[in-house]
Amino acid sequence: MKALSEKNAGIAASLTLAISAKAKQLQAQGIDVVSFGAGEPDFNTPENIRNAAIERINKGGNGYTPASGLLELKEAICRKLARDNGLEYTSKNIVVSNGAKHSLNNVLMAICNPGDEVLIPGPYWVSYYELVKLADGEPVIVETTAANDFTVTIETLNAALTPKTKAIMINSPNNPTGAVYSEALLRQIGDFAVENDLYIISDEIYEKLIYDEKHVSVASFSEAIKERTIVVNGLSKAYAMTGWRIGYTASNEAIAKIMSNIQSHATSNPNTIAQYAGIEALDGNQDTIETMRRAFDERRQYMVKTIAAMKGITCVNPKGAFYVMMDVSSFYGKKVNNLHIEDSLSFADALLETDRVAVIPGIAFGADQYVRLSYATSMDNIVEGLKRIETFIGKIE
Ligand code: PLP
Repeated sequence: MKALSEKNAGIAASLTLAISAKAKQLQAQGIDVVSFGAGEPDFNTPENIRNAAIERINKGGNGYTPASGLLELKEAICRKLARDNGLEYTSKNIVVSNGAKHSLNNVLMAICNPGDEVLIPGPYWVSYYELVKLADGEPVIVETTAANDFTVTIETLNAALTPKTKAIMINSPNNPTGAVYSEALLRQIGDFAVENDLYIISDEIYEKLIYDEKHVSVASFSEAIKERTIVVNGLSKAYAMTGWRIGYTASNEAIAKIMSNIQSHATSNPNTIAQYAGIEALDGNQDTIETMRRAFDERRQYMVKTIAAMKGITCVNPKGAFYVMMDVSSFYGKKVNNLHIEDSLSFADALLETDRVAVIPGIAFGADQYVRLSYATSMDNIVEGLKRIETFIGKIE
């Protein structure tokens, strides 16, 4: 048979999804695994949103919608962007997609030409790298460090800049580090993008899950910045709607049109019932977000305090999202139960094998010193899981 697509055969599977699936599979076999792998809230979708979907199913009229989404949902998104982010858009700027991951795919397809470089602060969310490659772009990682609270600086961005640089990805609050970019830094990045004629892809999916600071949207600083920024957001994390698959972008009209055209061929419209439920999510009562945020905050504080007391492990206090990165590199080159720990993958494997705790190896985020723990799981699981990790590291020699 003839060779398959060279470009696409080289796309790696999502390691985070693979490990969460492995943990779920072990649990289904009755094995007592504590999983810190989840990338989704452990809460149910709020009742008002569920009811809106049920009503819509019963009412009927759930055929195709326009490819880029229902006008009523786009208008609700415009109201949200004005209310929460101080951003004025019209429905022509909005494209609704099958989750923010799909939105990111559309954005990159709309802006990249072969060889265009996209700056990605690292550690980075696992899909950014592969999505840039899928769009024929070149991912360029701009490393951040724990000492800098995992945020880029203008110096590191400048050092990565070439004539081929097309865009910069910003994800604040950040997955996997929990970093939140300050307003001052975002202003600098906005100006840097204007000066160097770059697009900014601003992934704000975790905007509501923020603990010590206020979320600021980079597009809100000036018309010049807004014009070149594509705001990416969605309902998955704020409304515990991961499986409903609704994400959206706000961008200039030219970009929105290309994305809408791509989507019209690739998927038609996002799920109609989920779109109607999305109107209720954005326009309805918002109290459940705060309930969820407080629960995450309590768990975050417990996790950071407990991890900080563990020998050989350090972590940076996450300011947003629901992940903690643990630096476990002091154990590399050692052994547990005859299993060699050489890197984040072998650490995660040994931990799962020996003490039945699932974590995501940092290599999935380009950060092999670390493993990522999600606190989107119950306090009981967190207490038990951290106890097991402590037992595990006590056995390493
Ligand atoms: N962006 C980031 C940083 C994420 O962590 C995720 C999900 O884990 C997404 C985007 C995609 O979310 P969804 O496709 O569920 O809207």
